[in-house]
Amino acid sequence: MDFASKIRDVVDFPKPGIVFKDITPLLQDPRAFQTAVDVIADRHVGSKLDAIVAVESRGFIIGSALAYKLGCSLVVVRKAGKLPAKTISTRYALEYGEDELHIHEDALQPGQKVLIADDLLATGGTVRATGQLIRQLGATPVEAVFLVELNGLGGRELVNDIPCFSLMSFD
Ligand code: IMP
Repeated sequence: MDFASKIRDVVDFPKPGIVFKDITPLLQDPRAFQTAVDVIADRHVGSKLDAIVAVESRGFIIGSALAYKLGCSLVVVRKAGKLPAKTISTRYALEYGEDELHIHEDALQPGQKVLIADDLLATGGTVRATGQLIRQLGATPVEAVFLVELNGLGGRELVNDIPCFSLMSFD
């Protein structure tokens, strides 16, 4: 399956000078979306995962399909002010500025094995912060999975304590 042909470059989005990788053409192609989820899920069939931790917001799309397919729970990591119950949080650096991610404090139990799901790996800051939240709750991220990886931004190196798998990568 030629997944890369289903990713659209959008120039100057969300700001001038940025070329945004748009995954919506892949989602709109039923066979491509189904195959993408199957390829990622097949790596973990029988690995006794407890949860998929999906990162706001496009990670929810991949993460919920994986949780359904693998029969494990779905845990969401969200930006500040979105989760209704008590959370723990971490701040992390963006290219310009900082952001904050939250997880419900009772979303994971100590000893649980989880998979992190997001649409895209760039600098790795988002996934590293997500891994920190998971570990603070005593659980272990066994892998982080993505549809797309942008090479040359140091994402894998930053997330060096969590193995990363991406369906496709771009230079
Ligand atoms: P990182 O923290 O630098 O690895 O950025 C990854 C996060 O930013 C993910 O949650 C992505 O959803 C989002 N992101 C960054 N660049 C793009 C893009 O070109 N397309 C889609 N999402 C992106």
